[in-house]
Amino acid sequence: MFKTPSILPLIYPSLTWKIKTSEKVIYLTFDDGPIPEVTEFVLEQLALYKAKATFFCIGDNVRKHPDIFQKIISDDHSFGNHTFNHLNGWKTDNKTYIKNVALCQVEIEKHGVKTNLFRPPYGRIKFSQTSKLVDYKIIMWDVLTKDYNQSVGKEIVLNKTLKHSEAGSIVLMHDSLKAYENMRFSLPKFLEVFSDKGYRFEKL
Ligand SMILES: [Zn+2]
Repeated sequence: MFKTPSILPLIYPSLTWKIKTSEKVIYLTFDDGPIPEVTEFVLEQLALYKAKATFFCIGDNVRKHPDIFQKIISDDHSFGNHTFNHLNGWKTDNKTYIKNVALCQVEIEKHGVKTNLFRPPYGRIKFSQTSKLVDYKIIMWDVLTKDYNQSVGKEIVLNKTLKHSEAGSIVLMHDSLKAYENMRFSLPKFLEVFSDKGYRFEKL
C-alpha cells in the first residue's frame, strides 16, 4: 500500500497525515538518517531544486554523524525526533519509549537546536504513548514510497510515488542504506517531475 488508507486519519485525528492546502506544495520527509553518503546525496539533490525537506533522525545516528546532522541544519532543512534507537512503539513499554524519545532530543539539542516534530518508527505508536508526547507534533504521511523494500522495483517505487502525491502530501522516503538504491533512482526524478508541474518543496 503506497497510499495511506483514508480510515487511519479518522482513527488517529490528532496525528498529522497531510497538510491542508490548495497550493502546489509537497512535503518530502526522510527517515532514519543521518548517515554518510546517503543523507549527503539527498542534500545535494534537494539543493539542485532549492527544495526544503524534513529529516526524522535516529538519535544514535545524530551521535555517530554529527557533521551530517549539522549539514541538515546549515542547509536550512527541518528535522524531527525518530527516537534514539528506532523503537517500535507497539513492542515497547511506555516508560522505555518516552525515555528513548528524550534521549534523541538530548542528542539533537547538543547542536543548539530543538524540534517539536516526532515521527514514530514504523508508524507504530500506542494511543497511550501519543498522549505522553503532547509537546510534540506527531507527523505521519499520506504517501509511502516503500523505497526500503528492495523487492519492489525502483520504477514501481517512482511511479506509485508520482501517482499518489498531490498538493499538501507528506511523502515518506528514507536516507538509509536499505533504501538507497530505490531512493537514489526515484528522488531526482520525483523532484524533476513535480518541479516541472510548478510544485515547490517545503519543510514542516
Ligand atoms: Zn524509521
